[in-house]
Amino acid sequence: MKHIILTSIIIPAFFSLKVSAQQGDPKATEVWEPEPKVVATGAVNTPPSDAIILFGGKNLDEWESVKDTTQPAGWTVNKGAFTVKKGTGNIQTKRVFTDYQLHLEWKIPAGIHGEGQARGNSGLFLASTGLGDEGYEMQILDNYKNKTYVNGQATSIYKQKIPLANACKKPGQWQTYDVIWTAPRFNEDGSLKSAARVTAFHNGVLVQNNTELTGATRYIGKPEYKAHGPAAIKLQDHGDKSEPISFRNIWIREL
Ligand code: MG
Repeated sequence: MKHIILTSIIIPAFFSLKVSAQQGDPKATEVWEPEPKVVATGAVNTPPSDAIILFGGKNLDEWESVKDTTQPAGWTVNKGAFTVKKGTGNIQTKRVFTDYQLHLEWKIPAGIHGEGQARGNSGLFLASTGLGDEGYEMQILDNYKNKTYVNGQATSIYKQKIPLANACKKPGQWQTYDVIWTAPRFNEDGSLKSAARVTAFHNGVLVQNNTELTGATRYIGKPEYKAHGPAAIKLQDHGDKSEPISFRNIWIREL
């Protein structure tokens, strides 16, 4: 009896809710403008038509030395890729960026030696904020069966944010990073207005999901924000003794 009474109350209530949700003009909630632009795409890993090509396989014309920006990037271009030339230092883009979508491919050499952080260590600085390793580093490292601290493994925001997965391929295979970067914003007095955010895919696997950064990367101590504007993207020449890694097919779309 109790069940029947309850049902007789609930069912009409449910139907009246459904009916009221259907009332009104559905067009009222349609948005037609602005239209997302039409962008032609090619085969997998082919840059979209509106991308800026940062490395297309031939030269490092879009890059410069970090320690002396009047000097060209000193890394070695060979067969459609370029390889870190150990000891020449970090390189960075000549252009500066704020918010963007970036695609980058990297390869750990087959037969690499070393362990932990000393095994194919490089880094993608999502925004360079100064010389050396200043900036926000997304780690590049061979973590295919190579253990290290998890906030320092490939696709971590170094010493700050642990990735959601380890999608590393075996050394000798090309790997992709696809990154969406929202730069931090600062007030006129230099204080933080809004934190940096990053979403990233490693070989198509989501590894950072709208992750909020607590500041620029620090090797020792806690991350910290220091006001900056549009910034170069930087790649790391790490001081470890393992065989140098290679890059290819780097493009960016400003947002
Ligand atoms: Mg690194």
